Amino acid sequence: MKKPTIFFDLGNTLLYNRQLDDENIQIACRHAANAFTRLGYQIRANDLAAAHFHNLTRYYAIRNSDYIEQSAEMILIQTLEEFGFFNLPAEDTRAAIQAFYAYTQSNWHLVDGVPVMLDSLRKKNFPIGLISNASSVQDVLTLLKNHALTEYFNAVIVSAAVGFRKPRPEIYRYALKKMNARAETSLMVGDTFIADILGAKEIGMKTVWATRYAKADQVVLPDIHADFILDDITRLEDVIELI
Ligand SMILES: [Mg+2]
Repeated sequence: MKKPTIFFDLGNTLLYNRQLDDENIQIACRHAANAFTRLGYQIRANDLAAAHFHNLTRYYAIRNSDYIEQSAEMILIQTLEEFGFFNLPAEDTRAAIQAFYAYTQSNWHLVDGVPVMLDSLRKKNFPIGLISNASSVQDVLTLLKNHALTEYFNAVIVSAAVGFRKPRPEIYRYALKKMNARAETSLMVGDTFIADILGAKEIGMKTVWATRYAKADQVVLPDIHADFILDDITRLEDVIELI
């Protein structure tokens, strides 16, 4: 019998970050602005950082209601256009984006036991996919590489490439197709109730809610239930049989 396909969320499921707050986004914006001004553009780094933080905050609010993902580059280009910079070389905006993510990446840590769990699942021939809500594909790939997780995934699906965020069915359908999997025989494991549990359930997947690093103040629907709730994600194998 074919093994069920297991899809993981990344942030606060396999990696955790206790500092992804406004203050840290502001610091990341300053790193981006400094990297940009170092290229010789005549602009005050503090002004650029403040404007970009403002635009990012607005963007985050919009994407949390329509679940449409633009890329981090697009938001930065919008900010730079406000200062009169148009049609910049791609490598210049990329340098700023890289500086932004180099800072935020330093705040992500591997959840204990995750590589052992993934290795065990892989050895038992479970197809494994990743579905991440993120505005930069490169950021996700770098995080996987930095934590030596790349090899475990048969496919990595990022909302920045798909254009839609979880819980939208479009990204789940895309992921299933990419993994040649069916919803009924797939499992989604993640920390965010609306994105990972509601979204996956609506398309017909089974769900495991990983709660250890889940935000306590997130939106939860009392009438919707995950098939399983796990505090310790590394115990996933114990519950796969039960689902
Ligand atoms: Mg998450």
